Amino acid sequence: MEFKRIPHPSPTPDAAREAAIADPGFGTVFTDHMVTIDYDEAKGGWQTPVIGPREAIPMDPASSVLHYAQEIFEGMKAYAHADGGLALFRPEANAGRFNDSARRMAMPELPEETFLAAVREAVKTDAKWMPPIEGGSLYIRPFMFASEAFLGVRPAKQYKFVLILVSSGNYFKKGVNPVKIWVSQDYVRAAPGGTGAAKTGGNYAASLVPQAEAIAKGCDQVVFLDAIENKWVEELGGMNLFFVRADGSVITPPLTGTILPGITRDSLIAMLREEGLDVREEPYSIAQWREEAESGELLETLACGTAAVVTPVGTVASPAGEFTIGTGGIGQMAQKMREKLVGIQHGHVEDKHGWVER
Ligand code: PMP
Repeated sequence: MEFKRIPHPSPTPDAAREAAIADPGFGTVFTDHMVTIDYDEAKGGWQTPVIGPREAIPMDPASSVLHYAQEIFEGMKAYAHADGGLALFRPEANAGRFNDSARRMAMPELPEETFLAAVREAVKTDAKWMPPIEGGSLYIRPFMFASEAFLGVRPAKQYKFVLILVSSGNYFKKGVNPVKIWVSQDYVRAAPGGTGAAKTGGNYAASLVPQAEAIAKGCDQVVFLDAIENKWVEELGGMNLFFVRADGSVITPPLTGTILPGITRDSLIAMLREEGLDVREEPYSIAQWREEAESGELLETLACGTAAVVTPVGTVASPAGEFTIGTGGIGQMAQKMREKLVGIQHGHVEDKHGWVER
């Protein structure tokens, strides 16, 4: 893949970069470069990819993304290996999901090879922004939006793909802590036929009020129930769920179009099966969650996603009261799966599935 290269006129000085990445937290320490690729239907589609300085994007006030929210994104990470090399985890799965999202939002697909080339080029260019700390990563944020200046409601004819990188610290700075979850009462995340399976900004905008409600109730995260019966457990605002039971079965909500098909979810299904567990993609109700937690049939609930890898759910709260899962602490399976997945990503556990790209 040929990239047009625009040299950075004033890259961040080494000392300033080193200070910024020593304790980057999440979401504010951006690297020096970005990839942009324009799409213009009138010019035959995708134009030459450009890697250049990270800078503001000029935008017409009528750009249709600002009005009708044609926008999608991805979230993935580059990890440092002990030999100094960098690794990606299942990047082709993100490329595939990006195009699934694009189709749902009536946007053009980006050839997977172009998506992957953009990821590799950006990571290679800004590799020195990898935080030199345990659990640090380069968080990769590819996104695409409708840039056409047009106020009619129809799919735009011009788009911009952009990829930026964020230097990120250890998510588990204070160690892994079980999360407390609030069961959303008045809000749902997605309805059948809606956009729940797409990684599109609107889903996240809609989750902010219920997430704020969860925080106000003293919880860390919100869990959404299905929109029709208000009965089936779907997912958290940014993580999928697994229910680990005493009979050796594990249940995870099925991909019926209302939840995001997490890449960590897909990886965990394979890893839990390797443990000999009977993993089933089946609906699991909020009543069952409470009953099985109270009877001891439910051993653990795992929440999973790129950011927090695998995190135990300790307590579930709603107006009907709270219930605790297991001891409310860090269960054995959460611990084991987290160590294994982190180990594969960082190159010290064997990658049997060929998930890691060096
Ligand atoms: N559900 C939602 C709504 C999310 O935003 C995410 C994060 N992308 C996930 C689940 C987990 O997906 P992944 O494992 O691919 O990070």
